[in-house]
Amino acid sequence: LNPERERLSATERDIEKVLRPQAFEDFTGQDKILANLRIFVQAARLRGEALDHVLLHGPPGLGKTTLSHIIANEMGVGIKITSGPVLDKPGDLAGLLTNLEAGDILFIDEIHRLSPLVEEYLYSAMEDFKIDIMLESGPNARSVQISLNPFTLVGATTRSGLLTAPLRARFGINSRLEYYDAKLLTTIVLRSADILKTPITDEGAFEIARRSRGTPRIANALLRRTRDFAQIKGNGSIDTPIAQYALNALNVDEHGLDEMDNKILLTIIEKFKGGPVGLKTIATAVGEDEGTIEEVYEPFLIQEGYLMRTSRGREVTEFAYKHLGVIKPGGNAT
Ligand code: ATP
Repeated sequence: LNPERERLSATERDIEKVLRPQAFEDFTGQDKILANLRIFVQAARLRGEALDHVLLHGPPGLGKTTLSHIIANEMGVGIKITSGPVLDKPGDLAGLLTNLEAGDILFIDEIHRLSPLVEEYLYSAMEDFKIDIMLESGPNARSVQISLNPFTLVGATTRSGLLTAPLRARFGINSRLEYYDAKLLTTIVLRSADILKTPITDEGAFEIARRSRGTPRIANALLRRTRDFAQIKGNGSIDTPIAQYALNALNVDEHGLDEMDNKILLTIIEKFKGGPVGLKTIATAVGEDEGTIEEVYEPFLIQEGYLMRTSRGREVTEFAYKHLGVIKPGGNAT
């Protein structure tokens, strides 16, 4: 073993894997989803059947991939991973499906990006565990139906609104992941720091947590960067001052909003007098896809009280003015 190689291979990706919870027990938050999944997994195991197909939706970085691995671990089955845009034609999917063992999980990330042809091909696989495959080509071409091992499809999407009704209807289990509050994220940061053997105070962990946009992936990433600052600028351990120092140096917003969050708020304030303004208009003004704003950015801004959805469109709140340090026309200076 070459220690230097070992060190070099410890890329960020590997670290993300190390930090990934492996069992229901290690997974923090999403209590309702977890409680249900535990029951469904236990029941399927008792019956010796594959788990029903699972659709996981919600903004990026909340743990969809992690949960899929956990389901596979808890079911004691294998998992194959692919994504919507990668599955170009039905043949690509057939190759994967025919290689699944009984009970295995097929994880399709970004399932809303499947081509219509591939999606349709998936229907009979999901429903009857059967697919048609083409034998030979040209004049001898013929299709035969083959049976698959029963499997579980786990589909993940950030854009559930783009899923077709027939596909959605084929998932027996449908779960929406929610943003994590600062308390849950503190638990996640403390657990990750423990795995990374980085000393950290509860307050230091909370400081990172509350600035992580409700997202475990961001919390873990900020922890790793803060650890660097603690090592070089401090004594290696993370407390509130070093966390604040690092997060400010990294330009992390005081409340964990990201660049696009702030851009959306500022645009509504500066170009549309704070709203109400339609989603389409906001999308054009900030140069982002309408659906992405609706399903990825807006939920967090609404949950945290920066934005309101009214019948006449989107409107920023007093809190948003305050956050951006902009004086509301006709309002009091903040
Ligand atoms: P994307 O859709 O962008 O791929 P995702 O929802 O699949 O995101 P994951 O890759 O599962 O997100 O999670 C990102 C990281 O956050 C993982 O490395 C994992 O360690 C961590 N993580 C996610 N959820 C939790 C949790 N509930 N507890 C602890 N760590 C978590």
